Amino acid sequence: MKTNFHTHTYRCLHATGTEKDYVEEAINRGLDVLGFSDHAPFPDKDYGLRMGYDELEDYISEIDKLKSLYKNRLRIYKGLEIEYHPYYTEYYTTLLKKFKLDYLALGEHTYTTNSGFFRNIFFAESTNDYVDYAYAVSEAVAAGFFSFVAHPDLMMLNEFAWDKNCDKACDLILCAAEKYDIPLEYNANGFRRGIRPYPDGVRYPYPDDRFWKLVSGSKIRVIIGSDCHTPEQIRDEAVIRAESKCAELGLKMIDSLF
Ligand SMILES: [Zn+2]
Ligand SMILES: [Zn+2]
Repeated sequence: MKTNFHTHTYRCLHATGTEKDYVEEAINRGLDVLGFSDHAPFPDKDYGLRMGYDELEDYISEIDKLKSLYKNRLRIYKGLEIEYHPYYTEYYTTLLKKFKLDYLALGEHTYTTNSGFFRNIFFAESTNDYVDYAYAVSEAVAAGFFSFVAHPDLMMLNEFAWDKNCDKACDLILCAAEKYDIPLEYNANGFRRGIRPYPDGVRYPYPDDRFWKLVSGSKIRVIIGSDCHTPEQIRDEAVIRAESKCAELGLKMIDSLF
């Protein structure tokens, strides 16, 4: 079955294409299932690179409309990609129960440290931050709101060589995924960022082979996410590369969350 549960739309302000454009493209590319997971707004604050809170209802009703309109051609799910911060616990419940979302993807771009500091993993100051990040991801997974962890190795995009903190961060994330039996996403968008020089070699920012080799030695289930920000990316070269890499790594693949 061809599926994708990581799909953005024009609403997040750094992607193009309407919900309908993605549905049409998914059908053109032979997908059976499409899950929308645009960047979620928060009710009290605009953290940037996401839809406005006042767009949320429209996003949901548009997907509901497409769900019934295309019901014979494509199975559509409505979700959001969202960061976990402990003080929004009630909001995650509201999204799932009141707004009736099918799923939430944990897209931990920003995180809260154990000491309560707000951080962005795109700007790690050292690999010490990876450990804080991994604790935040573990706490998020334990909270139980999420159906999968998007790009769990996102921290590896920073310009540091692999060290003991990387071992520790990976260990924490893998332990949480195993304990709570939550799938990890092999994210194709990292490939779209291109190969870059790092202090310990040339590689894609993510997915990082060293992380995924550890996953392949575990029981953790893995799902590929396109993380498309244009309709053409739904199933592009990056997704095909992800499929062959996952096979090569011997990961335990799933193709659906439901
Ligand atoms: Zn995005
Ligand atoms: Zn995403």
